[in-house]
Amino acid sequence: MTTIVSESTQPERTNLLGLSREGMEAFFLSIGEKKFRAAQLMKWIHHEGCDDFSAMTNLSKALRERLEEVAEIRGPGVVYEGTSSDGTRKWVLEVEDGSYVETVLIPAENGKRRTLCVSSQVGCSLDCSFCSTGKQGFQRNLTAAEIIGQVWVAQRSSGPQKDTANRAVTNVVMMGMGEPLMNYDNVLPAMKLMLDDNGYGLSKRRVTLSTSGVVPMIDKLGDDIDVSLAISLHAATDELRTELVPINRKYNIRALLDACHRYLAKCGDARLITIEYTLIKDINDQQEHAEQLAALLEELPSKINLIPFNPFPHSGYEKPSRNQTMRFQQWLYDLGLNATIRSTRGDDIDAACGQLVGRVKDRTKRNARYIQSIQLDAD
Ligand code: SAH
Ligand code: SF4
Repeated sequence: MTTIVSESTQPERTNLLGLSREGMEAFFLSIGEKKFRAAQLMKWIHHEGCDDFSAMTNLSKALRERLEEVAEIRGPGVVYEGTSSDGTRKWVLEVEDGSYVETVLIPAENGKRRTLCVSSQVGCSLDCSFCSTGKQGFQRNLTAAEIIGQVWVAQRSSGPQKDTANRAVTNVVMMGMGEPLMNYDNVLPAMKLMLDDNGYGLSKRRVTLSTSGVVPMIDKLGDDIDVSLAISLHAATDELRTELVPINRKYNIRALLDACHRYLAKCGDARLITIEYTLIKDINDQQEHAEQLAALLEELPSKINLIPFNPFPHSGYEKPSRNQTMRFQQWLYDLGLNATIRSTRGDDIDAACGQLVGRVKDRTKRNARYIQSIQLDAD
């Protein structure tokens, strides 16, 4: 009789990519090694972009062999990589179950910043009425390795992060697919790695979490980590906000603003909350809306980011004209508020931030056509 050893009887190797410093230290203690190994490993993984234990020459051969047996460094597979005419780069990544996740690196016009837009979930359960991710429904949470893996892939694509001046990624915004505060346990270690000197060493002002307003988790975030916070407000009355952002029914605008104040009180410095406001034609782009918004934000240290609605098929909404967008900005300005308009970058590779489309892989022609279509878009 032959014995069949199924894959599931093999002990699973720990993927070190998603471990924060605490996680990495706990891992080394668990295999009978000293804690200081954590920093060494993190530098290899995140500074050097290395996924091969045998190349880690400052570790003993015995330890490298041990790591080979019990651990791995497994990043997402790159299915597609493209650069648009304005320099925006996009990756389509394949994660564990064959789902696709997109991540984009958007250069600032002055060349000083390169902002990576990172996804936290495949799909999203919150179903905001103007969001294509929400319309796809929720597939699953990304693991910490899959979240930081997006930064790892982008950083690695331009070689080791030897000196900080030449970093591929200078800023991260959690504004890709998904609601980061609905996947807190994986988002937190990933964001810790973004800040850690042995990880990506980004300052707290350069790492931004965007949320549609999961109030209890905003409080938890403020207890656990210090990063910049962006709130997807989109409306200044509860009636309209509930229509656009259904989670407003559970945590209304007042509750959300109170949470913002509590968050600011925990920050170690004077900080502004970013208020994201997607402008949708005839829905929230009129003068009265600007007046309501100004009244609401009077007491909150904040800056407004206006995002012209990015249309997608069957959304039922339209993009406001450029003139109307600028008028809205002017109304706010006249009311004493500064607002920036988010420029649409990477249009030719369908890579606007907040507009990433992940798709669940099916091994059929439809899938092949999808890959082909994004390649054509980028040419
Ligand atoms: N779930 C988080 C982060 C991801 S969405 C959140 O909602 O904040 C990132 C930003 O893109 C949010 O402000 C979101 O409201 C915005 N967004 C989503 N769909 C959009 C669309 N079709 N046009 C313009 N902005 C959109
Ligand atoms: Fe989810 Fe954010 Fe889209 Fe709302 S806007 S459905 S919270 S990803």
